[in-house]
Amino acid sequence: MSFTVHGLPVSQGIAIGHAHLVSHALFEINRYHVAPRHIAAELERFDNAVASVEGELLGLKAAATAAQPHSEVGAFIDLQRMMLEDPVLVEAARARIEEHHCNAEWALVQQMEMVVEQFRQIEDPYLRERQADVVQVVERLVKTLLGDPGHLPPRRKDGLGTVVVAHDLSPADTIGFRDHIAGFVTDIGGPTSHTAIVARNLGIPAVVGLHHIRDLLHNNELIIVDGTRGIAIIDPDESIVEEYLLRRAALELERSKLKRLRDTPAATLGGELIQLYANISGPQDMGQLKETNADGVGLFRTEFLFIDRDTLPDEDEQYEIYRTVLKAAAGKPVTARTFDIGADKTLANSARDEPNPALGLRAIRYSLAEPKLFLTQLRALLRASTHGKLQIMVPMLAHADEIEQTLTLIEKAKEELREEKIKFDEALPVGGMIEVPAAALALGMFVRRLDFLSIGTNDLIQYTLAVDRGNEAVVHLYDPLHPAVLRLISGIIQAGGRASLPVSLCGEMAGTPAYTPLLLGMGLRSFSMHPAHIFGIKQQILRADLADLTPKVQRILKLDEPARIREAMEKLTGA
Ligand code: PEP
Ligand code: MG
Repeated sequence: MSFTVHGLPVSQGIAIGHAHLVSHALFEINRYHVAPRHIAAELERFDNAVASVEGELLGLKAAATAAQPHSEVGAFIDLQRMMLEDPVLVEAARARIEEHHCNAEWALVQQMEMVVEQFRQIEDPYLRERQADVVQVVERLVKTLLGDPGHLPPRRKDGLGTVVVAHDLSPADTIGFRDHIAGFVTDIGGPTSHTAIVARNLGIPAVVGLHHIRDLLHNNELIIVDGTRGIAIIDPDESIVEEYLLRRAALELERSKLKRLRDTPAATLGGELIQLYANISGPQDMGQLKETNADGVGLFRTEFLFIDRDTLPDEDEQYEIYRTVLKAAAGKPVTARTFDIGADKTLANSARDEPNPALGLRAIRYSLAEPKLFLTQLRALLRASTHGKLQIMVPMLAHADEIEQTLTLIEKAKEELREEKIKFDEALPVGGMIEVPAAALALGMFVRRLDFLSIGTNDLIQYTLAVDRGNEAVVHLYDPLHPAVLRLISGIIQAGGRASLPVSLCGEMAGTPAYTPLLLGMGLRSFSMHPAHIFGIKQQILRADLADLTPKVQRILKLDEPARIREAMEKLTGA
C-alpha cells in the first residue's frame, strides 16, 4: 500500500527508483514480512550475500598470508569461512526465512543469537570465545545484505534507478555514490548540512529528516523522492508513478526554458549589473560554468576534492587540479577557498575525535594547526595562479591572528617559490569568509587586512543562532530571516561598501530566489551559488527594481518581530 512520509527538501528534483538500505548500525535490524511470492528472491539475496562474504574472506586471507606467510591470521579467517558453511548458522537461517516469511537479516541475527547462547554454555574458554567469530561473520553478512556504500547494486534493467535509504550519510558517502544513484533519503540531516550541499552539487534529488524511514520500507521496494516538496512516497501505485514521471518531465522542461537566460545579462530593471558566480567542488563542475555562463567561480570548496581519501594529495597533484579549474575558467576569476576540513568534513583516516567539532579545529584553525599541509596547498595554489585569475579565500575567520598567520604563510610560500624561480601571480588577492558572528561584528580588523569578503550564510546562521546546520531536530530554529542574522548580513555589506572592498555572498541564501530581492535591497551586488540556481536567480534580478526595493528592505532591517518580518518579506517577493 502506498504511503507518503514528510521530511526536509534539500536537493530539488524527482527520483523514482528501488530502495537500497544502507546501515551503519549493524544490529539495528528490523523484521519485515516477506510475501510468499518473494521468498525465493529473499533466499537468493541471502545466498548471494553468503557467496560474496566467502569471496571477501578468501581475498582477505590471500592478502594476509602474502604479507605475513607464517601468521595465524589465515587460520582464523578459515575458521570464519567454515562458519559460513555451518548448517547450524546458514542452513538454519535459510529455514527461518522460509518458515517465518521474514527478511534475511532478521533470520540471520535470530539464528546468531541462538548459536552464541550455545557457545556461552561451553566450559572450555577457548571454544567459548569462538562466539566472537560467529558474531563477526554475521556482521559481515548483515552488512552485505543491507549494503554499505561500497556495495551498491548493479544498474537495473527496468530503467529505474537506485534510491539510497540511510540513517545518515557523510559527504564522503554521498560523493562515493555520485554516478550510481537516482536519489537519497535519510533519517537525519538539515538543508545546509554538507551532505545536502553535496547532493545539490551533484544534482541528486534528496529528502532528509525523515526520522525512521529505514524502518518503513525494505530493500528493492519502489520509492519516489520528491526533493522539491520534501516527501518520499513508498510503494507508489501505478497512477502515482505516472504522475511523477509527468512531473519529472515538466521540471526538465522548466529547466530547459530557464536555459534561454544564459546569455541575457544579469541586470536589474534600472540596468545595474549583478555578478553571478558559481560554487564548485572540483574540475568536474567546470562544464556547468560554461553552461550557465557564470561570471566565474565564487567558491571552490577545495576540501571536497580530498574528503573521501585517507590523505591529502601532494603539491603536484593539487597543482594539476587547480590548474585544470583555472584553465576551464578561461580568464574568469576563480576563488579557491583553502581547506575547510573539520566539523562534518573529515579526512577518511582522521584520528581527531572532537566532542564539539563545529566549534573545534575546523577550517582555518585546522590549516594553521597543520602548517605543512597548509603550506603545500598555498604553494600549489600560487603555482597554479599563472594559469588564470585566481584569488585565495580563507574560511571561518574569527581572529586577526588567523589572518596574520595566513598572510605570513602565503608570504613564506611566495618566498620559497621565488627562490626556486617558479612563477606565480605576485598580486594574487586574498579574501576571507565572514561566517562567524564575531568577525561580522568586528569587521574592521579583516577589512584592513584583506582584498575581498564573502559572506558564508550557512555557517553565519548556524553560529549566530547556535543551531547545528546538520541536525534536523533543531532545523525549525535555523532561520535565515532572524533579525539578528539579517542585521549581521546587512552590516557586512555596508562595512565592505564603506571600505570599497568587494563583498559577495556564497551561502545557500544566494541561490534561493525568495531571498534575492532582500539581498539586493541590502546592497549585495555579487552572488555565488550552485550553478543549477543561476538562471532562477537571474530571473529574479531581471524583475528587480532597486529604487523600490532598497527603502523597503531598510525598513525590514528595523523590524524585530518575526511575524512582521515575514509579512514584509511576502510583500517584497510578491508571494
Ligand atoms: C557557508 O558557510 O555559507 C559556506 C558557503 O561554506 P560551507 O557551506 O562550505 O561551510
Ligand atoms: Mg562555511
